[in-house]
Amino acid sequence: SFTTRKRWVIGNWKMNPNLAAAKNLTQALITELSTTPIQQCQLAIAPTHLHLITISSLIQHANIPSKIQLVAQDVATQRHTGAFTGDISADLLIDAGTEWVIVGHSERRTLHHEDEALIELKLRAALDAGLGVIWCVGETLSERESGQATAIVTAQVTAHTQLLSIIDPQKFILAYEPVWAIGTGRTASPEDAQQMHATIRQVLSHIRPALNETSLLYGGSVKSDNAGLLAQCPDIDGALVGGAALDADSFLQIAKAF
Ligand code: PGA
Repeated sequence: SFTTRKRWVIGNWKMNPNLAAAKNLTQALITELSTTPIQQCQLAIAPTHLHLITISSLIQHANIPSKIQLVAQDVATQRHTGAFTGDISADLLIDAGTEWVIVGHSERRTLHHEDEALIELKLRAALDAGLGVIWCVGETLSERESGQATAIVTAQVTAHTQLLSIIDPQKFILAYEPVWAIGTGRTASPEDAQQMHATIRQVLSHIRPALNETSLLYGGSVKSDNAGLLAQCPDIDGALVGGAALDADSFLQIAKAF
């Protein structure tokens, strides 16, 4: 498809590799990219907060033509310093070399009861500090089976219409991740994913024409063997990858498909 939209393949490492494994994985990506650069999409990885500084320095010192951008998996709702035990602010993430943060992931919505109001605070804190946001939406299995998928996803987006009307399009990536496809090995069909992406694009353009150029990523059991068909869909501009991002070869295979 002909589009000026930027393509992304982003690895969400979740609570998986320990420090040694995270360094090895980063080094494997660097080694491969130094001989086989990936030009068609921007790569990014999201290690645990604990590893951001180490991974950032590995990437900074690597001699690779196409940079790997660094993403955090979460951010505090508060921006200012102070008595917030255990929290990590957007400013501290930037200080650690981070450029983006994932907000609204279904695991945060489910396991930490993050609702749209909390997601809005995190989005604003991140954007105010200068981080880009990888903003996740998606319906559950029961919502899809009862025919509500489109309504649910639309509501998740339009809950933040006011923010979307002023957001910097350069700092905003949206990821559609059907909850039933995350970590289950069950991917949305390219047709279903494309249909939802087209709907989301319409909703965003309706809020503000400039958002027509937003990169829309698909996430949920993306693997090297299903990435090709997803990549051909006109409104799928990349992938947010969990499990398959823990293996350098699989991750780069997916990137090559986009
Ligand atoms: P998965 O995770 O690729 O393991 O399904 C995707 C995600 O949660 O971003």
